[in-house]
Amino acid sequence: MNQRRSFLKKASALAATGMLSTAQTREVEAAAPSKKIGIQTYSIRRQLKQDMVGSLKALKNIGFSHVELHGYEQQDKKGSILGYTIKDYRKMLDDIGLEPTSAHLEPPLQSIYKFGDGGGTGKGERSIQIESYTKENTKTVLEYWKRAVADHQEMGVPVMVQPIMPVVNTLDDAKLVCEVFNQTGELAKQANIRWGYHNHSQEFKRIGVKRGEDWSPEMEVTKDTYPSEIFYDFLIKNTDPGLVFFEMDVYWAVMGQCDPVTYFRRYPGRFPLLHIKDRDILGSTGFMNFENIFTVGYSTGGLERYYVELEYPNPATSTSLPQIEAVRKSYEYVARAPFVK
Ligand code: MG
Repeated sequence: MNQRRSFLKKASALAATGMLSTAQTREVEAAAPSKKIGIQTYSIRRQLKQDMVGSLKALKNIGFSHVELHGYEQQDKKGSILGYTIKDYRKMLDDIGLEPTSAHLEPPLQSIYKFGDGGGTGKGERSIQIESYTKENTKTVLEYWKRAVADHQEMGVPVMVQPIMPVVNTLDDAKLVCEVFNQTGELAKQANIRWGYHNHSQEFKRIGVKRGEDWSPEMEVTKDTYPSEIFYDFLIKNTDPGLVFFEMDVYWAVMGQCDPVTYFRRYPGRFPLLHIKDRDILGSTGFMNFENIFTVGYSTGGLERYYVELEYPNPATSTSLPQIEAVRKSYEYVARAPFVK
């Protein structure tokens, strides 16, 4: 009851400032108290650097109930999150009232960096790629996950997600990635943690053809070529559903020229988590069919939870709101959307 009362107070305060129309306020009031809306903290990464506590409190004040963390690091076998010890970070979230329900972790072998690739990454920010896995280097990868699993178990975070794929050029590379994912999922499962993979757009490339060549039916099949397959499909089919789930970033799937809904129907139940993202503020571009995504996500994809995410500011758009304001408007969109539970 208190939650509803404070929510209503906030909604009418926003209406008073003219940020919401009366009709919009009524819609938010009607929908939001029953919804638990989560956010990936990467969405306000710049503000977090400037004011960690204040920015997390701002998320709570907007109405978010839970967060998916970013920024876990391991140094000298010690884990930290954005410069805080894992214990301190958890305590800070508890004090604010945000539940950490998931965490993104960037595994080692990050040797390739691209700067400002125009795909949503802000100017001057780096995007990371991970080296191809080999029989030799996967030992390092699994050691990293072992430590990370222990840290997240200690922190009480029940879900861990790898957000970036290693470079995959051949079918053998792809097979090894699946093996390592299954092994990582097993490590997490032993600690009662669910382990999953989050996509960008490069997962939707075809593998199994000669590098640099597009597949065509006329292509001569030699010992160097294979029937091609989309890497994302290969991953889903060759990982154990009991060990590896998929957190689909629906925006990046669309950028990879794939419809999320097709995947929910093709692989029912494999998508318990989603990243709900648009090219800009959620629902503002017409780029994403969120109604279909949520409807089929719930009925077929296995959708349990979603995280709002913005890779804002996006150089592809001209909007220049501070990240937290773009996040607030995105929250309002989700709170009002009748197809979101
Ligand atoms: Mg994402």
